[in-house]
Amino acid sequence: MAVDKQCETRIWGERVQSWQCHKRAIIERDGKWYCKIHDPEYVKQKNMKKQTRWAKEAAKQSAIWALKQARNNATEGLTLEELKQVTPNLIRKALGGI
Ligand SMILES: [Zn+2]
Repeated sequence: MAVDKQCETRIWGERVQSWQCHKRAIIERDGKWYCKIHDPEYVKQKNMKKQTRWAKEAAKQSAIWALKQARNNATEGLTLEELKQVTPNLIRKALGGI
């Protein structure tokens, strides 16, 4: 039976010390052994997923910002009394029916 190998990733503590991951290595990449969560391919995929999620969130935030800007532009110059009359439907109309 093969001897279990240990994952070679070093984990950094809160101070300066680091230690070797205690998990059992299951995969070899470029001559080094890694456990499941430190497998460079797995880490890469996880980071890509994270970036995709961030990009989606950023796109959502900028859409919200653009809508707010458009709403501000659409209501610019209105008096307080006129602003009180502004309804979501009126804003939608002013924005071109979004
Ligand atoms: Zn590990």
